[in-house]
Amino acid sequence: MYALAIHGGAGTIARASLSPADEQLYRAALATALSTGYDMLRDGAAALDAVEAAVRSLEDCPLFNAGRGAVFTHEGHHEMDAALMSGHNKLAGAVTGVRQVQNPIRAARLVMEKTEHVLLGYPGADQLAREYELPMQPVEYFFTQHRYNQLQEALREGRMRLDHSQALPTTAPLEEPEKFTDAPDPNWKKGTVGAVACDQHGHLAAATSTGGMTNKRYSRIGDTPLIGAGTWADKRCAISCTGNGEYFIRAVAAYDIACLMEYKGLSLEEAARIVVQDKLAPVGGEGGLIAVDAAGNITLPFNSDGMYRASRVEGGEAMVAIYKE
Ligand code: ASP
Repeated sequence: MYALAIHGGAGTIARASLSPADEQLYRAALATALSTGYDMLRDGAAALDAVEAAVRSLEDCPLFNAGRGAVFTHEGHHEMDAALMSGHNKLAGAVTGVRQVQNPIRAARLVMEKTEHVLLGYPGADQLAREYELPMQPVEYFFTQHRYNQLQEALREGRMRLDHSQALPTTAPLEEPEKFTDAPDPNWKKGTVGAVACDQHGHLAAATSTGGMTNKRYSRIGDTPLIGAGTWADKRCAISCTGNGEYFIRAVAAYDIACLMEYKGLSLEEAARIVVQDKLAPVGGEGGLIAVDAAGNITLPFNSDGMYRASRVEGGEAMVAIYKE
């Protein structure tokens, strides 16, 4: 049974904070990305191709914190992270700190397929993308006013933030921060996009892409490009996480689900629930994940107010949701 799930970030997504018009925009963007990947699976594409295509669709949409629309670093740049993994052969590729490749997920795939490495970072990762002639963009391409405004707020607060979504109407001049703390504020919203798929051969793949956290500095790297933390696929499950990356790294969240399935014989749903509710939530790890197993079962657990998410299994209807139902 082929199946696809996608996410566009988890966090404090209150119904009141999204206007009906904005909600429609998010739902439409999720539906487009979902059908992009689902139609490919239906036509016989590999899971890896489907998750890459779904993530590219979300990266190109400025609503999400990945590719165009990525959040700003402390210095006012973009440093984007992405990873993907193919489950049946355990191949993986990831990039961190890319600044000009239009689709970081494509650069991650290049790392997997064209190099002997798994994770490349900063100018080297952009250089690889350039050498293989991926579409590159001037840094202005990644600018969005609402992300810029979020950086101004974070600078005023002197903290790193997890941000996603809502266009904010105000603009403010760039200010120097008075202080910086890396303590994440759980009340701030999160971003990131991801996709997991099971194809017609029962092969699994996962892909995740993010701008990381607003006001991040010192070349901070989150969970997204770290195989096993924010992204994982093997022959049992494919996982893409979103949330406060530091917690997902310390929990080795995505791989822990695979381990619970392999060593304890748990179902995908039970393993994912344990990681999100019993392991991450009690220590403040707010967020969620999307997961699929080799039978096409999907689970989309999160411990935050909401998670932009969508899924569809073979022959079923498309499901698009934002809030806790
Ligand atoms: N996990 C991402 C990071 O920490 C952020 C997110 O999912 O919103 O970089």
